[in-house]
Amino acid sequence: MAALPEGVRRLMREDLRDLEPYDPAFSKTEVNLSANENTWSVSRERLEAFDLALASVELNRYPDPLAGELRAAIARRHGLEPGQVLACNGADEGLFNLLLAFGGPGREVVVASPTFEEYRNFASLVASPVVDVRRGERDFALDGNALARAARRAAVTILCSPNNPTGDVAPVELVRRLHDATPGVLLVDEAYIDFAGPSASAEPLLAECERLVIARTFSKAFSLAGARLGYLLGSPGLIGAIASVRQIYSVNSVTQAIGLAALAAEDEVAALVDAIVDERGRLEGELARLGRTLPLEVFPSEANFLLLRLPHASRVRERLRDEESVLVRDFSYAPGLAGCLRVSVGTPEEDDRFLAGFERILAEEAVGLGR
Ligand SMILES: *Cc1c(COP(=O)(O)O)cnc(C)c1O
Repeated sequence: MAALPEGVRRLMREDLRDLEPYDPAFSKTEVNLSANENTWSVSRERLEAFDLALASVELNRYPDPLAGELRAAIARRHGLEPGQVLACNGADEGLFNLLLAFGGPGREVVVASPTFEEYRNFASLVASPVVDVRRGERDFALDGNALARAARRAAVTILCSPNNPTGDVAPVELVRRLHDATPGVLLVDEAYIDFAGPSASAEPLLAECERLVIARTFSKAFSLAGARLGYLLGSPGLIGAIASVRQIYSVNSVTQAIGLAALAAEDEVAALVDAIVDERGRLEGELARLGRTLPLEVFPSEANFLLLRLPHASRVRERLRDEESVLVRDFSYAPGLAGCLRVSVGTPEEDDRFLAGFERILAEEAVGLGR
């Protein structure tokens, strides 16, 4: 995007003038492992169920604002009351509305970076100061003591579990500790929780932690990134507060219908998740094998992606894109992530293609070739 004209900049709120539209400018590649989407194919039955659901959507009518039927189905999935669920236009919208309701000028938002950058972006939109409790430099370990200290004065404390882009799960005991430490709201972003073990979720804490909110999404495990559907779980009070600041029709009727159909076919999603977790193990094993002879570090992950650290990371990513038509995400510009690339777990065919190209380029770079 071209820089905004000065005359326009001056019309804007002062603290927002340097923001830019989000545009990852994805180059079109044959294999895209850059956005943690689910690239596995969806069954014909599931696609037909979507078609059927869409056929009865009345597009001339406004959607149900709070998506009552979908909300009830999500509540059933989690053994909660519908009032403890808020459907959102992607989990992103839920995160933003949570910060809109509870953040603001002078209200601190605590994050543990490196983590999902949207927390910082959304905090700046609502003019919340961000307190960054950094993870360990080598292993990305969370600093529980520093987090608890910061949470004591925070309006909103955010943990991402499994964390994007490092892949580690925040221990449930830490979630409870931060909830007890903070007078504010604790958000646990579980966008990737389906790929972690069953005991990884902070969900059981909802019964006792009344200022805990959990974010979930249909974008990753459910293969529905394009439908824009996520949801928040929390106490009816917190959910009500967030619901009161949202755009009233943010979840459109097409998306509501798709969400209901997706939940009805959840068995298929569970099988897909199992297969992706197996494939993650294989990909990690293959990368660890490369790491025995080439300069490459692979971080363990409980999500559908792996974080890698290597020399010349940005150039390796560019070469993968240009020579192999394989796209991965470059994080080496980000604080704390020097030399890091993130690769989503694709299908076995996609991953094999990535592995072959990656091994070749890594080997060439290691002997100083390919410049
Ligand atoms: C992908 C992602 C989300 C949300 O995705 P939506 O598509 O907006 O539902 C939220 N948090 C993290 C950490 C993510 O990686």
